[in-house]
Amino acid sequence: KYTGMSKDRMIEIRRQNCNPMTMKVTYYKKPVFIHQGYMQWLWDVDGRRYLDLFAGVATVSVGHCHPKVTAAAEQQLKKLWHTTSIYVYPTLHEYCEKLASHFPDPLKVIYLTNSGSESNDLAILMARLHTGNNDIITLRGSYHGGSPQTIGLTSNAAYKYPVASGFDSTNVGHCMANEQYIAQLKETFATSVPNRIAAFFGEPIQGVGGAVQYPKNYLKDAYKLVRERGGICVADEVQTGFGRTGSHFWGFQGHDVIPDMVTMAKGIGNGFPMGAVVTTPEIAASFAKGLHFNTFGGNPLACAVASSVLDTIREDDTQQNSLRVGTYLMTELAKLRDKYEIIGDVRGKGLQIGVEMVRDKASRDPLPPEAMAEIFEDVKDMGVLIGKGAIYGQTFRIKPPMCITKEDVDFFMAVFDKSVRNYMERR
Ligand code: PMP
Repeated sequence: KYTGMSKDRMIEIRRQNCNPMTMKVTYYKKPVFIHQGYMQWLWDVDGRRYLDLFAGVATVSVGHCHPKVTAAAEQQLKKLWHTTSIYVYPTLHEYCEKLASHFPDPLKVIYLTNSGSESNDLAILMARLHTGNNDIITLRGSYHGGSPQTIGLTSNAAYKYPVASGFDSTNVGHCMANEQYIAQLKETFATSVPNRIAAFFGEPIQGVGGAVQYPKNYLKDAYKLVRERGGICVADEVQTGFGRTGSHFWGFQGHDVIPDMVTMAKGIGNGFPMGAVVTTPEIAASFAKGLHFNTFGGNPLACAVASSVLDTIREDDTQQNSLRVGTYLMTELAKLRDKYEIIGDVRGKGLQIGVEMVRDKASRDPLPPEAMAEIFEDVKDMGVLIGKGAIYGQTFRIKPPMCITKEDVDFFMAVFDKSVRNYMERR
């Protein structure tokens, strides 16, 4: 039972002492006050249970407070919290070997960081050093981080600041078919970055962008064009990695490509702050010309947790569960899409799913934010937490801990159906 600070007091402190932005993005009119979590469940301070289909933005990979991961953290806490990679300690090496075993050659060199932004920052630096070029291409709708550099890679205006980030990304996208996308990319090369590309960044399935997928072969063709011009290809697996897409351990494998660099975070630690960059020995050699140091990157506690996460993904077969339950969820959502005029699209793969809401199917105009907020609040009031995203905020995002079951899906489907129906009846 919760006996801590009152809800009013928390809101007061949030107003006075917290980043004012966090007040805006409380998301809900009536905020959720989280107290505890277990696997796919969260409890608020009043003891109310929620099915968590957002997982702290695709972060809780194997389940809140998963007993195995918690035990691994506890054990390590008693042994050694911190030392740096100046010294040689087993947790770091055990983890690097284990993570590397999940990658195809030549992706075998690992840098450990503390977040997705930090991983992408490092990737930018390494790409520039390796290629001698400066420009980066990212895609429309992309999100690659909130640091001054990675804001430049992010194309969603909501996250942009009026101060220059030093560079801006050249965003590509908009068209319906692969040839048009590729034509746009070629045009970008011709007009914006002739022969100067350092890197092309892409999420295998966009996260914040609203589960946006690319046409078949797009990444393959794009990688070829980038490499022909001396650039390297980076897959941002911050959301799609660690089996979330179900069919593969990494999202890039679903596109039949091998990137030159892969960045990851979120699910890597099941909620423990951690990130990584994996690259080739060749690129690592270019980077080794300078001295790179990161106090917490590869910290023993983080490595013990992440190592246990990898074991748990295997032991609990969470990738297979993502595929099975995710496919079921999408099939059920597709039925609702056919039933309601305002559900425009259901897409994604495994447990990285987007439900795009529209005014009507003919116009495909985004459902306005107030309407999105109403449905969203209703879903929450009935006990399910989902996310919102995409360029116009028109897409519900579903990316639960990978331990959810078909019964959870049935519960969510009943709730979502009811919320959409409620909205249709009210308007
Ligand atoms: N890349 C992607 C694809 C992300 O979704 C995010 C976070 N939403 C980031 C990078 C940045 O990660 P972090 O917030 O850990 O810096």
